[in-house]
Amino acid sequence: MRVTLEGLDFGYRGRKKVLNDLNWTLEPGVTGLLGPNGAGKTTLLSLIVTLLPVRGGHLFIGEHDLSTTVGRSRARRTLGFVPQRFSLAGELTVADTVAYAAWVHGLDRRECGPAALRALESVDLSALADRRTRTLSGGQRQRVGIAAALAHDPRVLVLDEPTAGLDPGQRLRVREVVAGLGEDRTVLVSTHLIEDVAHLCSRVGVLAGGRIEFHGTFPELEALIEDSTEGSPYGSEFERAYDRLIERVGESP
Ligand code: ADP
Repeated sequence: MRVTLEGLDFGYRGRKKVLNDLNWTLEPGVTGLLGPNGAGKTTLLSLIVTLLPVRGGHLFIGEHDLSTTVGRSRARRTLGFVPQRFSLAGELTVADTVAYAAWVHGLDRRECGPAALRALESVDLSALADRRTRTLSGGQRQRVGIAAALAHDPRVLVLDEPTAGLDPGQRLRVREVVAGLGEDRTVLVSTHLIEDVAHLCSRVGVLAGGRIEFHGTFPELEALIEDSTEGSPYGSEFERAYDRLIERVGESP
């Protein structure tokens, strides 16, 4: 399912615009959203998953127009979201946690158990279905969060910094899981790590100055990094954003 953003504007009340005439189209597969801290990645994801209202421009999930009430409610049935921070009820089992998420998304009570098991299989957590969530590692908790977002089988899945705070081994595991989910879905992953994009995304967008300043494949992005040292065709805002990104690649483990 395609996600289309047309002339999207957004500002928090009383503050300068965060997104400014942003245009972008997401196709099935995994797309990375890169950008420095404060660029507006979380804001953009929140608009796509209907947590913030579309006030300027247009945002379509497939054919559903998020500017309309009916469009939002239909789109929600096909959207899954893994926020940057979420809490799990520690006494619940992994399977019950995911089944509950399926129920919240409107699945019939009888469908929730089987839907949870399917979702756990797709994040490779079937073996831990009966464990209480408080006993899990950071990477396992993150995969439970992904399974919860997948339980109603959404066509569009949005993940906000899914590898943040994980150690290198766990990060690798989460990347593998997310990469597999893009085979039959439109997946958007925000990150500030270029290496995340290198390993799991078929396409990448760079958010800077309120717009998607670059959209293409990872090799195209790499070529741009090299070019930017000799003066890139893109604006200085983008170059500054880029420099900060590159510094972070150097810092990451
Ligand atoms: P990113 O995810 O790229 O770090 P955010 O979308 O979190 O960026 O933030 C973009 C800008 O919007 C920042 O300047 C941030 O301070 C501001 N901002 C984020 N959330 C709110 C909010 N709830 N109210 C006011 N300003 C906000």
